Amino acid sequence: MAKKKSSTPMMDQYHAIKEAHRDKLLLFRMGDFYELFFDDAVKAHELLGLVLTSRSKGENPIPMAGLPHHQLERYLKDLINAGQKVAICDQLEDPAAAKGIVKRGVTRVVTPGTVLEEACLPGESNNFLCAVDPGEARAGLAWIDISTGEFLVLNVPPEQLGDEIERLAPAETLVPREAMRDGEALHDTLKHRHLGALSRRDDYDFDIAGGARRLLDHFGVATLDGFGLSPDDPAIGAAGAILAYLGETQLTELAHVRRLRLITRSDHLVLDRTTQRNLELTHALLQGGRDSTLLKVIDRTRTAPGARRMKDWLLNPLAALAPIRRRQEAVGELMHDHLLRAELREILAGIADLERIMARVATGRVNARELVALRRSAEQLPTLAAVAGRMQAPLLLELAGDIDLLEDMAGRIAATLVDEPPAALKDGGLIRAGVEAQLDELREVRAGGKDWIKQFQQAEQERTGIPSLKVGFNKVFGYYIEVTHTHKDKVPEDYDRKQTLTNAERYITPALKERERQVLGAEERIVELEYRLFIALRDEMAAHIERVQAVAHALAALDVLAALAEYGALRQCCLPEVHESIDSAIVEGRHPVVETLLPENEFVPNDTRFGEADSLIQIITGPNMAGKSTYIRQVALLTVLAQMGAPVPAKSMTLGLVDRIFTRVGAADDLARGQSTFMVEMAETANILNNATDRSLIILDEVGRGTSTFDGVSLAWAITEFLHHRVRARTLFATHYHELAELGVILERAENHNVAVRDWSGEIIFLHKIQPGASDRSYGIQVARLAGLPPETIERAREILLGLENQAADRDYNYLREGEVLRAAAREVQMDLFAPQHVPPDPLVEEIAKIDPDHFSPMQALQEIQKLVQKARKKAGL
Ligand code: ADP
Ligand code: MG
Repeated sequence: MAKKKSSTPMMDQYHAIKEAHRDKLLLFRMGDFYELFFDDAVKAHELLGLVLTSRSKGENPIPMAGLPHHQLERYLKDLINAGQKVAICDQLEDPAAAKGIVKRGVTRVVTPGTVLEEACLPGESNNFLCAVDPGEARAGLAWIDISTGEFLVLNVPPEQLGDEIERLAPAETLVPREAMRDGEALHDTLKHRHLGALSRRDDYDFDIAGGARRLLDHFGVATLDGFGLSPDDPAIGAAGAILAYLGETQLTELAHVRRLRLITRSDHLVLDRTTQRNLELTHALLQGGRDSTLLKVIDRTRTAPGARRMKDWLLNPLAALAPIRRRQEAVGELMHDHLLRAELREILAGIADLERIMARVATGRVNARELVALRRSAEQLPTLAAVAGRMQAPLLLELAGDIDLLEDMAGRIAATLVDEPPAALKDGGLIRAGVEAQLDELREVRAGGKDWIKQFQQAEQERTGIPSLKVGFNKVFGYYIEVTHTHKDKVPEDYDRKQTLTNAERYITPALKERERQVLGAEERIVELEYRLFIALRDEMAAHIERVQAVAHALAALDVLAALAEYGALRQCCLPEVHESIDSAIVEGRHPVVETLLPENEFVPNDTRFGEADSLIQIITGPNMAGKSTYIRQVALLTVLAQMGAPVPAKSMTLGLVDRIFTRVGAADDLARGQSTFMVEMAETANILNNATDRSLIILDEVGRGTSTFDGVSLAWAITEFLHHRVRARTLFATHYHELAELGVILERAENHNVAVRDWSGEIIFLHKIQPGASDRSYGIQVARLAGLPPETIERAREILLGLENQAADRDYNYLREGEVLRAAAREVQMDLFAPQHVPPDPLVEEIAKIDPDHFSPMQALQEIQKLVQKARKKAGL
C-alpha cells in the first residue's frame, strides 16, 4: 500500500519513526492507546482481531487500529508468537507540559528472540536467539537466552550447521543477508530448517574482527583466549552479530550476560534433531500424546531454572566417564537418602526463578514484587545450606559450596520494600516506613497530619473562643472547620463557608487551603520519591548479578539431581556402570515411558547384550505389534539416561560410552520439507552410514518399508552388511521381514532375536519377550485378523500363503524371486479374489439347503417355513 504522506505534524512524526523500523510493527503511543497505522493496522487487525478504523476520514482515510496501553503485554504475546517484530514508540515527555507536538521515540524493540516480557516467555524452556556465520572451512553458531543471560558459541563443519540449529529450536535466527541469497550455500543448508523468526542482517555484522571487538568490549576483557576461542573462529562473528542486534533492540545494558561458553561437541553424546524426535525426548510424535515423552517422565524438578536445566541435560548427555560418574554419585546419594532428598526438594519449591529476576534487574524491568521474591528466596538459603551441609558426594558438596547466602541483599530488600508491594512502580506503596525521613513526613502530610490538625484546632479554639470548634479532614471535601449553629456569630471574617450540615456549618480558611495544596502535592512527591528509592535499590542489586547467577546455577543443578533421584527411587531404577569398552548389557530393562502408560507390572522387562566380538548387531524379527519398536527405543533411551548420569529403569546396566545415537524409526512423512517418505528414510539412513563411528549406537526400525518388498529387503540387507563390515557400531535392527534373519546367521558379529508370540489356535498372543533366534514366520495374517479385516480376505490370504510356502519348498526358495513365486502360488490355488463364487453363501441359504423335505410331516413343514420366514424378516429388518 502506498503510504500517502499526511500533512499533520503528528503523522509526519509517525513516518519519520516508521522509516527506521520498516520491518516491524510500530506501536505508536497516543494518550492511553498504542495505535497502528496503514499496513501495520491491517496486520494487527488480522493477527489480534483489533477493530480497524480510520484516521482523517475523507479522501484518503488512513487505516488505524489501537490497543489500550495497559494491555500491551497480552497483545505482545500474540504478536511474538505469530513471529512478528514490534517497535514500541512512547511519549518521551509529559503531554500536558509539551509545547506543540509531544516528543516521541522508540523505547524498545521486541522480537521473538529478544522478548523479556514474562507473559511471552516459556517458563520451562529457554528462549534462544541464534546467529549463524557461514564461515568457510568452518561455520560459526552463537545463541543466547537474554531472559537468563546464557550465551553460547560453537564452531561446526558447515554441513552440520542445519542439524545444530534445529537442535536448538531457536525462537529467532540472525543470518547475513548476502550469504543467505537464493543459490548461496547457506541458503541451501538452512532451507526447510526450523529457524524460528528469520532476521536478515548486514553481512558486516558477522565479521570476525568486528565481533571480537564487540565481545572484548561487552565482557571488558583484553583477549578472547579465556573463553577458549581462537582469533579466526567463525563463532566470534556469530556472537558479534548477536551483540550488534541486541544493541539495537534492547536499548539497555546487558549486565547479566557475564559469560560466554564455547561448546565442544566431543564433550557430549550427540542427539541430532531426528533422533530427539524419534525417541520422543521432549515432544511426542503423535499429537495428543503430549505426556508421553521421556522429559515428562523424569522431570520432577521444583523450579523453573531446574526444569530448563533438566531439558538441557536430557538433550545434551555427557560423553566422558568422569563427569557422568560425578553426577551418578550425587544422584545415588539423594536416591538413597530419602529424608535429605525430601527436605531439599521442599526448600527448592519455595525458590523463585532467580535467573530471570536478575535478567530483569539488569535490563531495568524488574518490579518490586520480583525483588521481594528474590528476598524470600534468599531467606531460604541458610536452611538449604544446612541441609546441603549433610551431603557427601563431591558434586553435591561443590554445589553446596557455591551457595552464597545473599544475606546482605535479602537484608537490604527486606529493610526497603514492604512485604507485599503492588506490581506497578509508579503508584507508590513500595517503600517501608522508616527508610527515609522525608518520605515519612510526606506520608504524614498526605494522611491529613493528625498532629498538625490537633495543633491547628487548639489555636483556632483559642482565637475564636469557641471551645467546641472542630478541625477535620476527609478525602472528598479536604480540610474543614466545623462550628455548631449555637456559635455561628463568633465565626471570624476569614472563614469561608463550605458546607451546611443539620446543626453545624463547615468553613475553610486561607491557611487551611494552603495546607490542602501541600497534601495534594505530597501524593505526587511520595510516588516520585518511592520510585527513586526503588531504582536506587534496583541498581544496588544490579551490582550483585554475578553472585545471584552463581547461586541460581547451583540451585538448578541441585534441583535436577534431586529430581533424577526422585525418579530413580520411585521407579525402581538402578545407576548404570559406565566404562570405556564397547561391551554393554542391560538386565531386565524397561521402556521408561511405555511402562508408565501400562497398568502396574504389565510391562515385560527385557535383557540386552552387545558383545564386540559376537553380537554388535542384533536383528529383531517378530510380527507387527509384538514390541520390536518399543524394545529398540528402550535401549536408546536407557543409554541417554545413563549418559545424563541419571538412574535407568532396569535391574542392572553396564554401558560402554556412546558418542552419538542415530535413529531411523517409523515412516514419518516430513511434509514440511516436501520430501517423500521413502526419500526421507533413505536420507536418514545415508546420514547414519556416513557419520556413525564404532562408538555409536544405531537404532533402525523397519528400514526399506517405504518401497517394494524386493527393493526393501535388498536395501536393508546391504545396509546391514555395511554396518557390520565398515562401521562396526552397536546396532539394533527391528524388522518384520523375517527373511533378514538370514543375516544373523551369516554375519559373524550379528545375532538374531525375536519377540515371543504364542499361536493359540489361529489367535495370536503377544508375550513382548525378546528371545534368541529368528522369528519363524511373520504372523501377518493373524495380526490382520485382529485388526478386523473381513474373514473372506483373511481366508484368501491364507490360501495364497499356503501356495507360496509349497512353491518355496519345491523350488530352491529365493526371496528375490518372490514375485514370480507369488504369481505361481496364486495361480495354483486357481481362484480369483473377486470371483463371485468365492463369496461365502448367506447362512440362511445354507440352512435352507440343508433341509430334507422328504422326511417332514406337513406340520413340521409348516413350522419350518414359519421359522425361516421369521429369520428372513428379521434379517431384512421387517
Ligand atoms: P512392533 O514394533 O513390533 O510392531 P510395538 O513396539 O509398536 O510393536 O509395540 C506394540 C504395543 O505392544 C505397544 O504399544 C505396547 O503397548 C505393547 N508393548 C510393547 N512392548 C511391551 C512390553 N515389553 N511389555 C508390555 N507391553 C509391550
Ligand atoms: Mg514397530
